[in-house]
Amino acid sequence: MYIMVSLICQGFTGMNAALTGAASAATEPCTESCDVLVIGGGPGGSTISTLLAKRGWRVLMLERDRFPRFHIGESLLPANMPIFDEIDALEKLRRIGRLKLGADFPRDDGSYYTFKFDRALGSTPPYSFHVLRSEMDQMLFEHAREQGVDARQNAKVERVEFDADGVTVRVMENGASHAVRARYLVDASGRDTFLGKQLKLVERSAEHQSAALFAHYKDVDFNSGDPHGNIISVYRFEHGWAWFIPLPSGDMSIGCVCKPEYLKSRRGADNAEFMERTLALVPHALDRMTRAKRISEVRFTGNYSYVCKRMTGPRFVMIGDAWSFLDPIFSSGVFLSMHGARHAAEVVDGSLREPARERHLQRAYERRIRPGYARFAWFIYRFNSPVMKRLFANPRNVWRVEEGVVSMLAGDVFDDRRVLRRLTAFKLIYAIGALIDLRRWWSDLRERKRQNRAALKSTQVDAA
Ligand SMILES: Cc1cc2nc3c(=O)[nH]c(=O)nc-3n(C[C@H](O)[C@H](O)[C@H](O)COP(=O)(O)OP(=O)(O)OC[C@H]3O[C@@H](n4cnc5c(N)ncnc54)[C@H](O)[C@@H]3O)c2cc1C
Repeated sequence: MYIMVSLICQGFTGMNAALTGAASAATEPCTESCDVLVIGGGPGGSTISTLLAKRGWRVLMLERDRFPRFHIGESLLPANMPIFDEIDALEKLRRIGRLKLGADFPRDDGSYYTFKFDRALGSTPPYSFHVLRSEMDQMLFEHAREQGVDARQNAKVERVEFDADGVTVRVMENGASHAVRARYLVDASGRDTFLGKQLKLVERSAEHQSAALFAHYKDVDFNSGDPHGNIISVYRFEHGWAWFIPLPSGDMSIGCVCKPEYLKSRRGADNAEFMERTLALVPHALDRMTRAKRISEVRFTGNYSYVCKRMTGPRFVMIGDAWSFLDPIFSSGVFLSMHGARHAAEVVDGSLREPARERHLQRAYERRIRPGYARFAWFIYRFNSPVMKRLFANPRNVWRVEEGVVSMLAGDVFDDRRVLRRLTAFKLIYAIGALIDLRRWWSDLRERKRQNRAALKSTQVDAA
């Protein structure tokens, strides 16, 4: 089998250049073969690799970096917990995480409203965790290896070429280049969106653009109603929103997500200066930072909402940020990636067993994934609008709509009909609110669109 694969690979001359949109590069002999090659060892990559290895497939997962490495995305959703459980990693997560029980959203007067996960309408667990991603991603990566995945670090995928039987992948591993032959490819490369770029599939969002500054601080006070630091706080300010995430150590992750136009006011300030200036604009946030000291560098990541035109194709599937990225206001990214991984595992497994079913399985995957992203996106795009501000500051539980919103905040946006009906009702309430204050709603919408158009003109999607 190996020799056969190797011969195919050596003879490969880019039969499918039309699909890859590139001239053939894979002329060197393949030194290895596997059933599934996964690009990226983040949460999405480790999850799908684990699930496929458990089903007996030979999985090679390649991660460009070396763990532990920094990654942003430290607040997890309750809907994610059953997926950790399914891959037998929930207890490991519990050991490294800080319990998360809900989310605070601000009122204009400096008070806040807490959405507690135990009030969710659906069946999501009443908790999740806050984590250091360097620890969590390493844990998941090593967990995948324990389940039989050939998980390698310092291994960067540089080019892929599809043909009728599979895919040839050029890899730079520990400074040396080699080629690997795989029957199926999973793109879990995160915001690098490896296939999105190679196949020219990436489209930036016309609805929403933003950029973030973030760092870790010590001695930041927890909110008065949250003495043990189990709640994420979200603050709005004129130019965007800010997060306060209590980390497992008791330190605080703080980030400011800003509209692109505000970034123009930066004028040569370095990240640290600009972060300080921006935090000073966030009403009430600084009250919690009177003793605070920054304990990490301030990082910056640029405009980042996009979606790829496709998420599947012959012998490949894309998951998580590799396919699409949403503003992180609802901490949805890790869940969406692991949820995508769980369902993409069905596509890969089924397609390898019965290749004739591949298209059918891929369509079912797309039909499942897109609506969940769209439900989060609807809330994200309107988060700073006057109507949404009012509804989040003073929620009413008429017809259990507030419980439906708590379920959305817990990540329950795919299956539960009771929740989906409440989210539809919320949209109706939003529309009525917009009609009542039509002039303000209209001017806010026009301003948002103007800013997005300007941002789209002047910036490129960048990598984290
Ligand atoms: C400012 C900000 C705040 C966020 N906050 C949250 C939050 O609170 N909660 C939350 O759930 N999400 C949050 N997110 C989103 C979260 O970071 C991502 O959605 C999540 O990490 C996606 O997981 P993934 O596995 O798809 O990709 P990643 O976690 O990005 O993993 C991709 C991996 O692929 C590797 N890779 C890339 N290219 C190659 C290559 N060519 N070869 C080999 N390896 C490669 C990368 O090194 C990386 O390790 C936030 C994002 C941002 C930008």
